[in-house]
Amino acid sequence: MKRKFAKALLLTALFVGIYSVTAQQAPVTAGNPVNNYNYHDAFAPHFYTKNGTPTRSASGQPGVEYWQNRADYQITAKLNATTNEIVGTDEITYTNNSPDKLSFVWLNLDQNLFKNDSRGNAVVPLTGSRNGAQGQIFDGGNKIKSVKVTLGDKKKTEAEAKYIITDTRMQIFLPQELASKGGSVKIKIEFSFIAPFEGSDRMGVLETKNGKIFTIAQWYPRMCVYDDVRGWNTAPYLGASEFYLEYGDFDVKLTVPANHYVVGSGELLNGAEVLPAEQFKRYKEASQSDKTVVIRSAEEVAAEANATNTNTEKTWHYQIKNARDFSWASSPAFILDGAKINLPSGKKALALSAYPVESSGKDGYGRSTEYVKASIEHYSKQWFEYPYPAATNVAGNEGGMEYPGIVFCGWKSKGQDLWGVTDHEFGHIWFPMIVGSNERLFGWMDEGFNTFINLLSTEAFNNGEYKEKPTDLHEMAEPFTRPDLETIMSSPDNMKEANIGMLCYFKPSAGLIILREQILGKERFDTAFRTYIQRWAYKHPQPDDFFRSMENIAGEDLSWFWRSWYVNNWRFDQSINWIKYVKNDPAKGVIMNVSNLDKMPMPIVLDVKTKSGKVARVKLPVEIWQRNNDWSFKHNSTEEIESITLDPDHAFPDNNVSNNVWTAGKGKVEKDIILDGYLGLYSTKNAPLKIELTEKNNVLNVEITNFPKFTVEPVAGEKDTFISNAAGLKFKFNEAKTAFDMTILGNGQVIPFTKN
Ligand SMILES: [Zn+2]
Repeated sequence: MKRKFAKALLLTALFVGIYSVTAQQAPVTAGNPVNNYNYHDAFAPHFYTKNGTPTRSASGQPGVEYWQNRADYQITAKLNATTNEIVGTDEITYTNNSPDKLSFVWLNLDQNLFKNDSRGNAVVPLTGSRNGAQGQIFDGGNKIKSVKVTLGDKKKTEAEAKYIITDTRMQIFLPQELASKGGSVKIKIEFSFIAPFEGSDRMGVLETKNGKIFTIAQWYPRMCVYDDVRGWNTAPYLGASEFYLEYGDFDVKLTVPANHYVVGSGELLNGAEVLPAEQFKRYKEASQSDKTVVIRSAEEVAAEANATNTNTEKTWHYQIKNARDFSWASSPAFILDGAKINLPSGKKALALSAYPVESSGKDGYGRSTEYVKASIEHYSKQWFEYPYPAATNVAGNEGGMEYPGIVFCGWKSKGQDLWGVTDHEFGHIWFPMIVGSNERLFGWMDEGFNTFINLLSTEAFNNGEYKEKPTDLHEMAEPFTRPDLETIMSSPDNMKEANIGMLCYFKPSAGLIILREQILGKERFDTAFRTYIQRWAYKHPQPDDFFRSMENIAGEDLSWFWRSWYVNNWRFDQSINWIKYVKNDPAKGVIMNVSNLDKMPMPIVLDVKTKSGKVARVKLPVEIWQRNNDWSFKHNSTEEIESITLDPDHAFPDNNVSNNVWTAGKGKVEKDIILDGYLGLYSTKNAPLKIELTEKNNVLNVEITNFPKFTVEPVAGEKDTFISNAAGLKFKFNEAKTAFDMTILGNGQVIPFTKN
């Protein structure tokens, strides 16, 4: 689905961001910032609350016993273009591959969202929503005329079945149990409904100059998914959360007024019958042409749309295989054009566009087919080959909505906006049409992944015609982690509608960009992400299957990252605290001290600029934060430092950038303690013990006869004194550094040592 008010949202986010950074500067400049970081929370073991199972491997692959049920549909339906009513028969062949016998099945009746008393209407706030029927008063919802079931191995008799409808769900009781591991049942449902004008921004009826455009979806009774995670997935359709559907083949016959043109998911089987000969010829030409071919022109629309006797009808026959849904559009107003899509295997598909004259022109849908073709060719090459024979973009009254092989985009869209929505809706072919995640619970697994692949596709389109600047994650840090946000893992029905754009689209997508560009690198990320798609193509992955796949294929424990960004709404803030020159000599190198101040850890990327203007980039892995809240490290510079800048590319969502830069003259320079005078071999009269003091990286090392070597650090405020809490020893030197007293901290015993 299209992200709504994307630009307005970003602007608001930006404003909130600036406001909040300003507001936050006070405690930081005041001196001691609060350190909220807890490395136990970030890096604790057992990120996964469940082990791998025979159905879902610990490695993130479908397990050896993975199973999935199947639903094949044969649908016939008739559209009354005057009353907007659709009357149909839905014949489902449902195959139970699960290990369980089933005495009942559940179906989605998503049209029931548009009944007056639906749960979805009840949850629309007074402030409004994009969901529901936008207040239209009409007799909405599915009417069920009959439900018949054919089951049984021997005598396959059709019988009326008992059923209960609760809101958008229908439970059908089977006359006998459906066998496990391959048992199948035929369910035949006669249904009808009146299409709303605006159907939750996912379907509808649009009036145009040359007649209505019907964009029809969520329209026939569809099987709920029965899976190994929850059994029946029966969450109602409330509006915000999308769909979770089984795969199968669809054979659909749609009877419409004779002057209508129908486009649908998959392949038109009877084009020769329903299209005029000349237009059918052009349709064939389009499927061979890299340039867009007009199949039905604006002139032909004008001449035919209102002329034909609407009492006659035509039946359009469509088929799509291995798909999770079927949608269609019908109108006398459609201009049609198309072109060939070239796929990596050598196969071809047909890009089609269907739009009214109001949407035509080179700045509008006149380029739609070019966009469809480019988008699908890019995704096919980059991730996984497009599986369907056709891809149709329809101009409708939705913002933008995706279905297998067909999408509905806003009829007013133009230029970059039309590219963006077309590319986004077709990106959904990969998520969730190919990778069939549970959208009703995990919106980020389709919208977020899709938003991410859209960025790469947009960058590639027509030499960057619509390329956008990369997101500045410093500016977005505040909106990404606002304390009142729910988590990415929350379901869309479980978050404020205004937060859906952030939590299902932008934030999960930004997470993948950080993972790809800063943590794993493009090659490792792309390999893992591609493999995840291959593993779960036409299957039902859960969040863990994605997390586990990414970790196993890239070979990296990313639990700290999933925890921070996806499971929790943690913030990120790194600071540079002070520097010190080795032996107080800039020629000998510099030691830098950094802190992780908030809950989320990240690797360190910083630029060190020296007085002569040279800039060196320093990178440290996230592992430095596994057991530290702050960290000192050496950089082999040879002259004075001019400045040090944390995250110079603004590639991490740093929530407080006021502590990201150290500058000469303003930043703190610590004095290095010169250790030379302390080094040497010491002995005591009290025992046959020798102590050797050496230096490495400006740290004092202590080696006592028959003890493991350890390090000591200076004691603040006590001159010539060093301590090791781990060893339980303290060393206090005399003024001349020719002797020291060693105190055993456990019992206070003091042993004097002198230099040899
Ligand atoms: Zn979407």
